[in-house]
Amino acid sequence: MCTPTLTPLRRQFLDIKAQHPEALLFFRLGDFYELFDRDAEVAAAELEIVLTTRDFGRNGRFPMCGVPHHAAPTYIARLVNAGYRVAVCDQVGTPGNGLVERMVTKVITPGTVVDESMLQPETNNYLAVIVSYGSANGFAYADVTTGEFAATEISHEQVSAEVSRVSPRETLVFGDVDVFGSVTGPQWMIDGDAPAEALRRHFRVQSLDGLGLDGRPAALMAAGALLAYVSEADPQALHVLADLHAYSASSHMELDPATRANLELEPLNRSGWREGSMLGVLDRTRTPMGARLLRRRLCRPSLDRQIIEERLNLVEALLANAQCREELSGLLKGVGDLERLANRILRRVATVEDIRRVLTSLEAVSSVHVVLAPMNGVFAQIRDHINCSQDAAALITNAIHDGDRTIRPGYSAELDRLVADADLARHWIANLESRERERLGIKTLKVRFNRVFGYYVEVSRSQADKMPEIYERRQTLSNAERYITPELKEHEAQVLNAEEQINVIEGALFSEIIERLAEWAPQMLDSGAAIAELDVARSLSEVAERQSYTRPKFMDTASIHIESGRHPVVETSQQEAFVPNDVTLDPDSRQILVLTGPNMAGKSTYLRQTALIVLMAQIGSFVPAASATLGIVDRIFTRVGARDDIAAGSSTFMVEMLELAAILAQATPRSLLVLDEIGRGTSTYDGIAVARSVIEHLHHHPRLRAQTIFATHYHELTAVADVLPRVCNANVAVAERGEQVVFLRRIIDGPADRSYGVHVARLAGLPPSVIRRARDLLSAFEQEAPAGSRTIPAQLTMLPPEDHPVVTHLRTIDPEQLSPLDALSKLYELCQEADA
Ligand code: ADP
Repeated sequence: MCTPTLTPLRRQFLDIKAQHPEALLFFRLGDFYELFDRDAEVAAAELEIVLTTRDFGRNGRFPMCGVPHHAAPTYIARLVNAGYRVAVCDQVGTPGNGLVERMVTKVITPGTVVDESMLQPETNNYLAVIVSYGSANGFAYADVTTGEFAATEISHEQVSAEVSRVSPRETLVFGDVDVFGSVTGPQWMIDGDAPAEALRRHFRVQSLDGLGLDGRPAALMAAGALLAYVSEADPQALHVLADLHAYSASSHMELDPATRANLELEPLNRSGWREGSMLGVLDRTRTPMGARLLRRRLCRPSLDRQIIEERLNLVEALLANAQCREELSGLLKGVGDLERLANRILRRVATVEDIRRVLTSLEAVSSVHVVLAPMNGVFAQIRDHINCSQDAAALITNAIHDGDRTIRPGYSAELDRLVADADLARHWIANLESRERERLGIKTLKVRFNRVFGYYVEVSRSQADKMPEIYERRQTLSNAERYITPELKEHEAQVLNAEEQINVIEGALFSEIIERLAEWAPQMLDSGAAIAELDVARSLSEVAERQSYTRPKFMDTASIHIESGRHPVVETSQQEAFVPNDVTLDPDSRQILVLTGPNMAGKSTYLRQTALIVLMAQIGSFVPAASATLGIVDRIFTRVGARDDIAAGSSTFMVEMLELAAILAQATPRSLLVLDEIGRGTSTYDGIAVARSVIEHLHHHPRLRAQTIFATHYHELTAVADVLPRVCNANVAVAERGEQVVFLRRIIDGPADRSYGVHVARLAGLPPSVIRRARDLLSAFEQEAPAGSRTIPAQLTMLPPEDHPVVTHLRTIDPEQLSPLDALSKLYELCQEADA
C-alpha cells in the first residue's frame, strides 16, 4: 500500500515544522493560529484549550488546537513562561488561488524574550550555552534584556555549579552534557569556523584576540553558538550584546547546588516568595537592577579581598550617613529599570511609555547625582560612573508628549499644523449640537458617533419634520431619526485625514528620536550599573543598621573567628530570642569541630550561621556578629545528612556518600566544610565508622586540612578529639529542670555527656509507658558501658595513620646519616612492614 501524496497544506506545515522541531509551531490559518499533531496535544494541555482534529483530506485527520490571532500573545506568553519555545508562522503571500505562502516570522524562546509580560523584574533572564569539547566545557550566558554576555571554560565537575549559579531560563547544550531541562543545539552552530565567524561578525573584528578567550576554544565555541542562536530567534536582540565578559570561574567562590539549597540563599520559587531566605533578609533594594545584582552576588561571593573591601567601604559610608541613605532610598525607587529600558531602545522596540519612563528614570538619576555631588571618597567613585544623560533627557522633554499624544507641540511645525487642523474640525463638530439646537429649536437634538456611519445627528421622531432639507436621513429607529449633512461629513473627513497623517508623521518622528536616543543608551547602561551598585550597598547598609551587623575584618591566613555570631534568617523569623555564639576555627590548631548535642538543640543552626556569615562577608555585606575576623574562604561545602528522612534507604545514603566524595575531592585548606549528621543514613556502627574515617581523612590529608564543623548526635565521635590534635569537641548546652530538657542554645567547648534522646521522645509526646521502658533500657545499656565513657565498639577503634608502625619506624630514621645503599635497604624494610 502506498501512502497518499500529501495535500499542499499538510506538506507546507510539515516542511516548516521540520525546520523548528524544538518549538511549538503556531501556524496561521485565517484568523487563527493553529497547532497540529504533537504540538497540539502539548499546547491544548498546557493552555487548557479544546483539542480537536483537522481533516487533511486524503492524508486523514490530525490533532489540532487553535487560538484567535489577536489573543495569541497571551497564549504564547503562557507557553514561554512554562518553558516552551514557540515559532510563529505567518501568511506572507497575498491570499488568492491556491496555497498562500507562509513562513516563520519569529521564534520566541524563554531565554530570548524581551516582552515584559514574560519577564520578572528582580531576576535576570539568562540564556546559557554549554559546549563539551575534549576535557573542557565552554560555558556562555547572556541576558538579552540587560545586555550581559559572559563566557568561560570550566571542568565537567563545575558545570552544575555554574548552571545553578546562573540559573538560566533556557539552556542549549552541544555534545555530551547532562543538564536538566536543556535542549540540544543544532550542530552547525559549533561546526568548524562557524563560532569564530559568528563572533567576528558580531564584534566586527578580524581577530578574536581581544576577547580574552585565548586558549579557551570551548568558551569561544559556546559564545559563538550563543550568538548564532540569538540571531536565529531574534536578530534585533544581538544589538544589546555589545560586550563579552571573559571570566574565570576561579575569581569567585563556587557554590554547588546542594550548598545553595542547604543554606537557603534564595526563595524557593520564582514567584517572589522571599521570607525565610538569605536573599529575603538582605534584599531591601529599590531598583530591579539592584535586585538582580544582589541576587547575582549572593550566588557568587568574591575571592578578591580588595573588591570585597571596596564594597564594604561603600556600605560603611552609607551606614554612617543616615540622611544620604534616606534620600537615596526615595530617589532610587524612581530610577526604574533603566537597564532594560536602555536595551529596549538599543533593540528599537521601545514604546512611548518606555521613553516616558526613561525620562523619569533619568530625572531620578540626576537627583541621585545631586545627592552625591558634595560627597567624596567612595561616593565620588560611584558618582563618577553615573551619567545623567542630560542631552537625552532634554531631547525626550522637548520631543515626547506627556499626555495622550506621542510628540509634544512645538517639536515639529508640520505636525502642529495638522493637529491644529484636526482640532478645528473637531471643534466645529463639537459645537454643532448646541448651534443646531438653537437654530432649529429642537432641544433633544444630539450629535453622536458610531462605527457604521461616523458622526450623525439624532432627533426624536416627533421632531423629524422640523429638519431642513440638507439633512439626509440615514437610519430610522423606533422613536428617533438619524441624519448626516455634507458639511458634517466634510469636517469628519478633515479629522480623519489629519489623524492619519498625524500618525504617519508621529511614527516617523518617534523612530528618529529612538535612533538618536540609541546613541546615549550605552551611557544609560553604565549609569544603570552604577545605580545598581549603589542600590545594593544601600540595601545592605539598611539591613546592617536594622539588624546591628558589624563589618567583617579579613586576614591573610585561613581561619575563622566569630564573636557572638547569629543566624541572619533565624534571628529575624522566630519569636524565641536568638542566642549568639562564638566560632573559632584554625587549620593549625582547631581545624575540626565535632559538635554534639540532642536533636533540636541548635546544631544545624550553628553550622549554617557560620557558613552564612562567611558568605555574607565575601559578598561585601556586614555580618550578624559582635565581630568577625576571617581568612578568605575559597569554597563553602555543606553536606546535610538524611536527618529528616527516617526511612533513609540505601539510595539516600548513596547520594549522601556521593556528595561527600565530591567534597573530599575538591576541598582545600581554605575551604569551609559544614557537615551535618554524616552517616545518619545507614546503621549506627556503619554511620559512626564512616563519620569517623571522614574526620580522620580531613585531619591527615595535607591537601584537605579544610576547616570543618561536624555536627552529629553520635556522641561516640567525641572520642576522636582525644587522639587527633586538631580536632576539638563542642556541644550545645542543655539544662535539666526536673524531667524537662531546656535548650540553652549556647555552644560550649567539650563533648556532650549523654544523649537526651529519651527526653526529646517524652517532649514529643510518646506514651508514658514507652518512655518508662526506654529509660530502663537506657540505664541497662549505661551499666554495660558507663555513661559518658567514650568507648567505641572494639571493631571501630581505629589507629590513626600517624601511629602506624611504619610511621613510628620512619621517625627513628635520620636521612642525613644514611648512605644511598642503607637508604635502599631501609626502604625494603619499610615496604615489608607496610605489607605485614
Ligand atoms: P539541631 O540541628 O540540633 O537538631 P536546629 O539547629 O535545627 O537543631 O535548631 C532547632 C531550632 O532551635 C531552630 O529551628 C531554631 O528555631 C532554634 N534555635 C537554634 N539555634 C538557636 C539559637 N542560637 N538561638 C535561638 N534559637 C535557636
